Amino acid sequence: MASRAQHLFLVLVALLSAAACSSPRASDQRATGRWALALHGGAGVLDRDAPRAELDEHRASLEAALAVGRDLLAAGGSALDAVEAVVRVLEDDPRFNAGKGAVFNEEGRHELDASIMEGHTLRCGAVAGVRTVKNPVSLARLVMERTRHVLLMGDGAEQFATLVGVERVPNEWFDTERRRKVLEEVLRERKQATVLDEESKPPRAYGTVGCVALDAEGRLAAATSTGGLTGKRWGRVGDTPILGAGNWADAHVAVSGTGTGEQFIRHAVARTIAARMQFGGESLDEAANAVVQRTLSKDDGGVIAIDRHGRIATPYNSDGMYRGMADASGRFEVRIHED
Ligand code: ASP
Repeated sequence: MASRAQHLFLVLVALLSAAACSSPRASDQRATGRWALALHGGAGVLDRDAPRAELDEHRASLEAALAVGRDLLAAGGSALDAVEAVVRVLEDDPRFNAGKGAVFNEEGRHELDASIMEGHTLRCGAVAGVRTVKNPVSLARLVMERTRHVLLMGDGAEQFATLVGVERVPNEWFDTERRRKVLEEVLRERKQATVLDEESKPPRAYGTVGCVALDAEGRLAAATSTGGLTGKRWGRVGDTPILGAGNWADAHVAVSGTGTGEQFIRHAVARTIAARMQFGGESLDEAANAVVQRTLSKDDGGVIAIDRHGRIATPYNSDGMYRGMADASGRFEVRIHED
């Protein structure tokens, strides 16, 4: 029979190896000083041969948002604050399909979805189908911080917005001429098409916005915000407010997606990338590329992802993806196509 000392030794070894194998938790977060950040403005981009001025305007918008995140993280701000701040800038920019400039649904109105998640605590919040909230990502954060729920939708989310006093705007405030033209085109084509055609056609103009960040304390966060798909049925909710589909952060990785939401939900895209890393031992690049290039289909969209070492992956299977990357080493770049 094992002596008491042997028994204690075995218990100690078991405890130590359990601690070594378990996934990183809040207490394991290490301040590395190596902050990093990535953002996207959607996987539906202008053609390469679009007017130079238009491409440059989009680049400038991405740079402005990226600079906000960089300054915040460089000053020691949290990943959570950074992703919210960056997404707010992109929501306010009419060039992207979130907040001002959101696409129209088939009724000619806007219904907005957003979510936010903090990696080391798994705290998260989301809103779906909001109509008068200027910055849905901030309402999502308040759902996380001030309720015991994760996702509020429609009238309930609107009522919560009143309760917490976030900035409101009339639904028409989100209108832009550009998006109205796309809706008219979509509705015209839809009239001519059979139901089957309509289902097989990839929806155009993905312009969701998102941001993932690692802060100097080693904490990860992700936020995503969207107007959804042009001409969507009213009441349709995409992947953006579904944690694990279009947005996810845990202690290993933070992911934000853009593309056909239904596909992202079916394949639990964001969480699958995290799971491949956590349980399959894949690197960030391997996991993100496997899901975007092999699980999803051509033109479904893309993701931005960042791991706890500050490595960034931005795979997409569309013609391009508005994206930007920055980190503590001085990296600061935006890209639209494979250039
Ligand atoms: N993923 C968004 C949705 O399906 C659309 C987009 O990325 O533009 O709601």
